[in-house]
Amino acid sequence: MQVKGSLVFDVVVIGAGVIGAAISRELSKYNLQVAILERNLQVAQETSAGNSGVIHGGFDPIPGTLSAKLNLLGRSIYENEWFRELSFPHKKVDSLVLAFTDLEKAELKTLYDQGITNGLKTDETEILSREQCLELEPNVNLQVVAGFLCTSSHIVDPVCLTNRLVESATLNGVKLFLEANVETIAKSGDHFVVQTIDRRSQIERYRAKFIINAAGHYADVVAAMIEDKDFTLKARRGQYRVIEKTERGVINDHILFMVPTIYGKGVIVAPMLDGHLLVGPTAEEGIAKEETRLISIEQFEEIGVIARRIIPGLRLEKTCGMFSGSRSICVETDDFWIAASSKDQRFIHVAGISSPGLSAAPAIAREVIALLKKQTELVAKVDWVKDQPVLSSRS
Ligand SMILES: Cc1cc2nc3c(=O)[nH]c(=O)nc-3n(C[C@H](O)[C@H](O)[C@H](O)COP(=O)(O)OP(=O)(O)OC[C@H]3O[C@@H](n4cnc5c(N)ncnc54)[C@H](O)[C@@H]3O)c2cc1C
Repeated sequence: MQVKGSLVFDVVVIGAGVIGAAISRELSKYNLQVAILERNLQVAQETSAGNSGVIHGGFDPIPGTLSAKLNLLGRSIYENEWFRELSFPHKKVDSLVLAFTDLEKAELKTLYDQGITNGLKTDETEILSREQCLELEPNVNLQVVAGFLCTSSHIVDPVCLTNRLVESATLNGVKLFLEANVETIAKSGDHFVVQTIDRRSQIERYRAKFIINAAGHYADVVAAMIEDKDFTLKARRGQYRVIEKTERGVINDHILFMVPTIYGKGVIVAPMLDGHLLVGPTAEEGIAKEETRLISIEQFEEIGVIARRIIPGLRLEKTCGMFSGSRSICVETDDFWIAASSKDQRFIHVAGISSPGLSAAPAIAREVIALLKKQTELVAKVDWVKDQPVLSSRS
């Protein structure tokens, strides 16, 4: 075992999923020494790689929640900044929520009202008749009774996005440390000392004034390193099937949703950016942290059942891939937990970032900056670079 001396930073961000990446890029706009510590060999290997890739319009979160506020704000930052500033695959695709019973039809009105309360404009959302649904998507289940259309959603490649965010951050001076598994955090004067270990048992130490805990499913484990038990996390896994490009024509350009059910909020049949079709996710409760990306044959069949409810003629035998990811859910609030630790104000948790975390990522990053600004003066860099050339080397 080898222990090196400490590296000194103003801020250490733990976790390089889309949330840690977004925060790091936002931090890179200020005169700060910033490090990202990621235990995997690459960024975006966990939940940020196992999701639907939808930038949601914002009709789904419960009004008044942090996730509702940050979904709307996040989407606006994607549309006005990220899609222009960062080079990653994305496409505007309308969302169509389908109701197959009268009970589900009543839910569509709830979604509409929620959307308006959350800040969607009336020209972005509409309740559709059965006929309108079939006109837009002739291959959906003929039992459809109504639909809810939202014209302000997008699909993105979340892995590519996370890489671009990290590249942009590193271009602006942030240091990325891969294979840096945070094991302990101690306090030393006005600094935290973060200790990491890699696969060869090599230990590294990082000193920082502020810690941003963006460790996804392990945010509670990281919190416990300073004896913080402010929140509890649980995991709900979702599995997908990827259907061959030959089947892409079975739907037009819509993300087709079922009305929220026991399967969770976001069951979809949707176009993928590379021309495949995406079907899923399922919703399995009580998932162990080490099993958040497992796939199983039982769920494989279940996804087929769901998919055929939406598109009865879908040729499931054309499945060419599977993947899964798990939502990290805050047990106490069922909402994002973005707050300074009760143990130390300079330790900021960004936890319970379930769906719509991808959509909210840009706004979550700004929320963190606002928390930091309450504690320290942040000076904007005059030479911050917005545009991002292709860059693969990282420190
Ligand atoms: C099935 C499913 C579908 C979804 N669909 C959507 C959608 O369509 N739209 C949407 O807006 N949102 C969606 N989401 C939510 C979205 O995927 C998440 O909100 C987002 O990916 C969370 O990112 P994260 O950075 O918090 O977590 P992660 O991506 O899990 O990143 C956390 C990182 O921390 C690292 N880490 C953990 N512990 C340590 C440690 N001790 N030391 C160093 N590093 C550590 C991990 O290795 C990981 O890289 C979906 C989620 C799921 C599961």
